[in-house]
Amino acid sequence: MEIWDQSIAVEEDLIKANEELANKNKEFFEKNNITTFEILGNIGSGKTSLIEALVSELKDKYKILVINGDLATSIDADRIKKYGVEAIQINTGKECHLDALTIKPALEKIKEKIDICLIEQVGNMICPADFPLGAKKRIVVFEVTNGPYIVQKHPVIFATTEIVLINKIDIAEYVGMDQKALNKLEADAKKINSRLQVIFTSAKTKQGIPELIKALEL
Ligand code: MG
Ligand code: ZN
Repeated sequence: MEIWDQSIAVEEDLIKANEELANKNKEFFEKNNITTFEILGNIGSGKTSLIEALVSELKDKYKILVINGDLATSIDADRIKKYGVEAIQINTGKECHLDALTIKPALEKIKEKIDICLIEQVGNMICPADFPLGAKKRIVVFEVTNGPYIVQKHPVIFATTEIVLINKIDIAEYVGMDQKALNKLEADAKKINSRLQVIFTSAKTKQGIPELIKALEL
């Protein structure tokens, strides 16, 4: 019995400690006028592609920094750097999420004025929900190929985010997701969190990208 009590306490402590550090990050972002967004979602959902779409639209007007969390590779940061935008890769090793402390070394590397910081979380829809990083808004991405139950099966992440991107909308009809099925996903998300802004996107056709930029409230 005692073992269980202790493990629950440890998890609560970790989440609490992260919350305090996330608030410190938030203060840092606000003090330096850096508008920060966190992008969450499974591997393959299109997080990096959507960041690329945002970067290519916004880079002439704003100074952007991208922080990419990943277990092992620098594939994502290398993709962003091709746009002439600074990108810092954080490899978490065995850790399945970035927490508020792991992004600190990247923030310490900031030497010049940054307007927008985009942080790509490690790819999964479970634990990153519990570890906010101090961003102005959290954006969760999933793809139409994930099927009809993806929202209902991940309630925590939808409860802790502000924007939902239902991505790869250009292939929806080929994977049996008709308008009714898409509306259902949107309704499922809003049932969990009525404040959610739901946008149908395609990084490929750029559908929804202008709406997404509007939702960022830059
Ligand atoms: Mg990625
Ligand atoms: Zn994790």
